[in-house]
Amino acid sequence: MHHVNDKPAVATFEFRSYRRAFRRPIKTHYGIWKHREGIILKLSDHQGRIGFGEVAPLPWFGTETQSQAIAFCQRIPSRLSIGDDFSILPTLPACQFGFELAYRNLTKDIHCADLAIHHYSALLPTGEAALDAWSALWAMGHRTFKWKIGVAPVSVELAWLSQLMERLPLGAQLRLDANGGLCEIAAHHWLDRCDRLGHRIEFIEQPLPPNCFAELIKLTRRYQTPIALDESVTTLDQLKAHYYRGWRGIYVVKPAVLGSLNRLQQFCEDYSIDLVVSSVFETDIGRQALIDLAIELQNSSFSKPHRALGMGTQQWLPHDGLDDPDWEALWQQLE
Ligand SMILES: [Mg+2]
Repeated sequence: MHHVNDKPAVATFEFRSYRRAFRRPIKTHYGIWKHREGIILKLSDHQGRIGFGEVAPLPWFGTETQSQAIAFCQRIPSRLSIGDDFSILPTLPACQFGFELAYRNLTKDIHCADLAIHHYSALLPTGEAALDAWSALWAMGHRTFKWKIGVAPVSVELAWLSQLMERLPLGAQLRLDANGGLCEIAAHHWLDRCDRLGHRIEFIEQPLPPNCFAELIKLTRRYQTPIALDESVTTLDQLKAHYYRGWRGIYVVKPAVLGSLNRLQQFCEDYSIDLVVSSVFETDIGRQALIDLAIELQNSSFSKPHRALGMGTQQWLPHDGLDDPDWEALWQQLE
């Protein structure tokens, strides 16, 4: 995966931005999210090779904004000499991911693997709507579902959870994502309930805010339901810091916002972490990078990701051609 022997190539650089309206706005603890904005990068070299990359910022996860990413791309010359070192971009993690990915795609033989659908978790609508929404996703083959919590009073949400668990077939797994939005008492209520449901709850994601590390550790000792960190580990440095401080629970890893894909992959190869590779609503270009990462880690690392990928997200996005596995066609959509 490392291209240290490749001489820096001279490439032509182009970029095009996109804006996609979610079919239904996404409700989270942060508020309502209506549009996914990002940038597609294209590198072409004199050998006729092409590499596409994607910048998919998530400012409330600490990345640059879309306009900061565009301003950065505008400063890149249209002809440039390019290698695989984009460490100049630590304050622009989404760009760092995008440029590394474009370079990888330029220099590797294209292989577009896909996984069977049960390897992807599917995002349910927030709140009561989840009670009916799971069945179409189950029929498509999904077996792992994710449901955002922490958006209504605990007692109301726990009642919905009971109804949902009555309806979900055995064999379905549920992930709960609080986006750091529970207070300690609410977290105890949720974990206590989840423990009673046995292993049908795969994990609770980020029950408490990122600054509650000691409390999160306490929760892992007190309850059997596993806890995953997401907002706590939005950069690779934070992920490493939590590992070294002793977090042995689950890590939700969103490569598109984490920064360097190469350094992330290296860390997961060197250390055994229990990770969920997760999407931030990328186009097919970013999505494929996550699948490739999961497959490569499965083959050659200590961290063998065995959990469903957090990316059953396509049903939330419009049929606008940006999920096209033909990336040249995808690119042409953006003219
Ligand atoms: Mg999350």
